[in-house]
Amino acid sequence: KQGKNCTINYNETIGRILSRQIELERLMHKDITNGFAHFTAYYQPIFSSSEKKLVGCEALMRWNPPEFGQVSPAEFIPMAERLGYINLLGENIIRIAGRQCKKWADAGLDLRMNINLSVGQIIEPDFLDKIDTLFDETGAPPDKICFEVTESLAIHDMEKMKELLKHITDKGVKIALDDFGTGYSSLNCIKEMPLNTIKIDKSFIDDIAKNPDTAVFVKMIVNLSHDLHIAVCAEGVEEQVQFDILRDLETDVIQGYYFGRPMPSDKFEEKFLSEKLQ
Ligand code: C2E
Ligand code: CA
Ligand code: CA
Ligand code: CA
Repeated sequence: KQGKNCTINYNETIGRILSRQIELERLMHKDITNGFAHFTAYYQPIFSSSEKKLVGCEALMRWNPPEFGQVSPAEFIPMAERLGYINLLGENIIRIAGRQCKKWADAGLDLRMNINLSVGQIIEPDFLDKIDTLFDETGAPPDKICFEVTESLAIHDMEKMKELLKHITDKGVKIALDDFGTGYSSLNCIKEMPLNTIKIDKSFIDDIAKNPDTAVFVKMIVNLSHDLHIAVCAEGVEEQVQFDILRDLETDVIQGYYFGRPMPSDKFEEKFLSEKLQ
């Protein structure tokens, strides 16, 4: 993790980290082979800031191997990317969230379903065919799906990325730029990609009530985005004071513990959709 050109003395902690790693890698292979056992999706609500109305959710992957208990996506997603499992896991979550999206659409609900895409999935040679197949399989309405991508796609051929994303936006699928402000080539991504939404990273939101400069920065992103007909989402909003500032800055939608944590679909329905799903 610390890169090349350094030496580290072996100690017990390193041994424990390595054996956890090896054990998790073994379990991941086993669970994937076993029909994606212990993998599920949680859903976190997204609300409009003006009317405080539920407009959609983000599907977030969860892995709960009984041998370890819940493993954080911050740990297992990079592992899956490194081991080449992210395509299978990514397809699995599209299938689960796609079915859920169809179910809510069939019930007459107008909800957007956001699904994360790793750049490793987009650069697969059969990416577009896969997406078509998944839409056929799940029956999910493409115009209700939004794929979240990060600026990391900018390290690949931008023309190619743009073309691939254009193919799916032509079907009505939306694209959101995730974790905005944490990468290196943000402005180029905004200029080149067919974006529907920009998601401002939680690190800015954490700071927004304490540091007036951060509000200036967010306002700039909002103005730029709106001029380009792109919506803005604030991520990781936890407190009323943050919500109030972001609404005043005309951020379009809000995601964060302030409205709700990621939760299983039955809890989500109970908490947010009980009146609409009679
Ligand atoms: P992300 O896409 O930026 O997702 C938002 C993360 O912020 C989620 O963490 C969510 O639980 C957390 N979060 C949301 N609101 C708040 C808040 O108010 N306070 C705090 N403290 N945290 C909040 P989670 O679920 O642990 O996921 C971590 C990351 O793992 C995601 O970050 C995403 O990069 C990745 N990930 C999760 N599911 C998938 C997936 O299906 N595919 C891919 N490729 N990546 C995924
Ligand atoms: Ca995301
Ligand atoms: Ca994010
Ligand atoms: Ca993030």
